Amino acid sequence: MLKKELLDILVCPQCKGRLKYDVEAAELICHACKLAYPIKEDIPIMLVAKARKIDD
Ligand SMILES: [Zn+2]
Repeated sequence: MLKKELLDILVCPQCKGRLKYDVEAAELICHACKLAYPIKEDIPIMLVAKARKIDD
């Protein structure tokens, strides 16, 4: 689990928008960019190149 304080300061590196934390998928989701950033061992990988494209 990520700490709330950390989530509060994290933004999407592409659009600087807020992210949604998907606990079960261990991803941080930017709906504006339709990207999901992976979280590895409680460390968010905030790189567009590492993000997964999503369609919702
Ligand atoms: Zn974004």
